[in-house]
Amino acid sequence: MKIVFDSTCLEYSKGHVEGPYRSESAFEQLKESGLHFIKPKPAAEKDVLLVHTKDHFERVKFGKYWEEETPVIDIKYPLLSAGAAINAAEIGGFSICRPPGHHAGRHFLGGFCYFNSIAIAVAKTGKKTAILDIDIHHGNGTQDIFLGSKDVLYLSIHESPQYPGTGLVSEKNCFNFPLPSGTKEDTYLKYLQKCIQEISKFKPEMLAVSIGFDTYCQDSIGNFLLKEESYKKIGEAISKLNTPKFFALEGGYSEEVGKLALALITGVEG
Ligand SMILES: [Zn+2]
Repeated sequence: MKIVFDSTCLEYSKGHVEGPYRSESAFEQLKESGLHFIKPKPAAEKDVLLVHTKDHFERVKFGKYWEEETPVIDIKYPLLSAGAAINAAEIGGFSICRPPGHHAGRHFLGGFCYFNSIAIAVAKTGKKTAILDIDIHHGNGTQDIFLGSKDVLYLSIHESPQYPGTGLVSEKNCFNFPLPSGTKEDTYLKYLQKCIQEISKFKPEMLAVSIGFDTYCQDSIGNFLLKEESYKKIGEAISKLNTPKFFALEGGYSEEVGKLALALITGVEG
């Protein structure tokens, strides 16, 4: 699997937990393991407008917003991260760029997310796609964008109660599996199997994975108890789906992001 990364995404830091160490940890660890890297091209405005309103694009462009966890940054960073997801979709790769995206909806941002990178990448392919969101947070932005769509199936396993407080029930094409704090690997993998069954029934042309490593037992935000080897098992389960796939990094707030990403890739590639 090729890794999509540009060190430009390490340039900005806003002093909160979503810092450059996350992508840097992934880069260092994956480089060491000999994986091949490619540099992304930034997304164009027209790509962003596939899933976001023009007003939203311009608010990000001109910094006309205030959100406590999602401070104003140069638009080049979310554009590059969205472009990295697009590139990952094209080559069946794994984007480790930041900022993350799954909390950004058609007309809103939040939770460190500005543009919804995975949604933009999925919309740009125009393919029938299942989006498996295995970050510890519900991808309220992704659900907002695709709720009711015939071409996209959205599935999320997330902690509840937890930010942003959505995803408590399944609606239309969006399947939500809220699980309590303290959830361990065996329970987690059972719900992952349910997701895999639903994806198989949907028969997608592509699988997009919003991967968050904030389900790790030592994460500073999440309260699940997954271990390093759990990610290999998650990768193995996903690899059973016989469809082209790509991955985009969402959360994960420990120094171990790189190690966990490598375990996941090892599982996917067998
Ligand atoms: Zn998260």
